[in-house]
Formats: sequence, C-alpha cells, structure tokens
Amino acid sequence: SCDAVVVMGVSGCGKSTVGAALAQRVEWRHLDADDFHPQHNVDKMRAGTPLTDADRMPWLERLRDELDRRVAAGDPVVLACSALKKAYREVLRGSAGVVGFVHLRAGREELAERLAGRDGHFFPAALVDSQFATLEEPDACEHVLTVGATEPPERIVERVLETWQV
Ligand code: ADP
Repeated sequence: SCDAVVVMGVSGCGKSTVGAALAQRVEWRHLDADDFHPQHNVDKMRAGTPLTDADRMPWLERLRDELDRRVAAGDPVVLACSALKKAYREVLRGSAGVVGFVHLRAGREELAERLAGRDGHFFPAALVDSQFATLEEPDACEHVLTVGATEPPERIVERVLETWQV
C-alpha cells in the first residue's frame, strides 16, 4: 500500500527521532513538518513571535498537498508534525493518503528528565507548557503510545509496528 502516517506530540516527545527510525524501518520517506513553513511563519518564528492558528493553516495545507503529491507518486511518507489540535489533524486528513496518527505521549516530567543536562536542543519551558495547554484529548484517528524518558526509539518503533501495521 502507499500511504502516509503522521507522528505527533508535543516538542521533545521524539517525533523527529522516532519518525526517522520508523521511516527507515518500513522504508518510507521521512518528512519533518517544520521544513514546510511558509516564509511568513519562518520570519515570525525567528523573531520569537508565537504562531497563530491563522499562520498554521496555510502551513498544514502545504503539508497536506505535499502528502497528496508524494502518495500519488507512489512515495509513502512518515511525517513528523506536532498536530496538537483536532483542527490541525483535520487538515492533514484532507490528504487521501493519511491513514492515521501515532501520538507519542510523554509527560511533562519525562520530557524534563530527558532533556536535563542536554545541550544543543533549544527547548524553552514556556513553549512546552503552551503546547501541553494546546494539546487536546485524543480523537479516534490517533493511536496513542505513552513513552517514557529513556525507551530507545527503536523499541518505540517496534511498539508502533506491533499494534498498528504500517
Ligand atoms: P520532537 O521532534 O518531538 O521535538 P526530537 O525527536 O527532536 O523531538 O527529540 C527531542 C530530544 O529527545 C532529542 O534530543 C532526542 O535525541 C531525544 N529523544 C527523542 N526520542 C528519545 C527517546 N526515545 N529516548 C531518549 N531520548 C529521546
């Protein structure tokens, strides 16, 4: 089959890491949603201005169209995208290829533990708090995996594949 799976969750939950490992395992392409922001959003983020939903919608539409293009070309995708709100997921589900969302659910404490003493990964607490505040209850299209601070990404990939045949 030729599809697209979205790995979602708050910043630091491991979307990029686990998404890349999953993509490698199933030999699908890995895309990072952050790479698809329109210039307007890039400028805002560089200036430290929070994005609004009005900023996010054109970005999500670009992602949806990219998924459509890939899937039509026979190029299945694992997309890492926070997709914290149902409304955001709805846009991505507008692509016929999207078969579901893997939600890597980590607690605030686990994320803090994971990132304690880690340099290089810029990870402001205020951003994480605002993401937890934004995160909505899971909906039916989400497959929720609770992840701890230290479970290796490869093991998380195995859990994805055990419970959900990608
Ligand atoms: P996201 O894309 O969700 O922001 P990343 O994949 O960039 O998250 O991971 C955030 C940080 O946590 C990185 O430093 C990464 O190396 C680390 N990390 C990711 N997954 C795990 C894991 N399963 N166990 C331990 N550390 C992890």
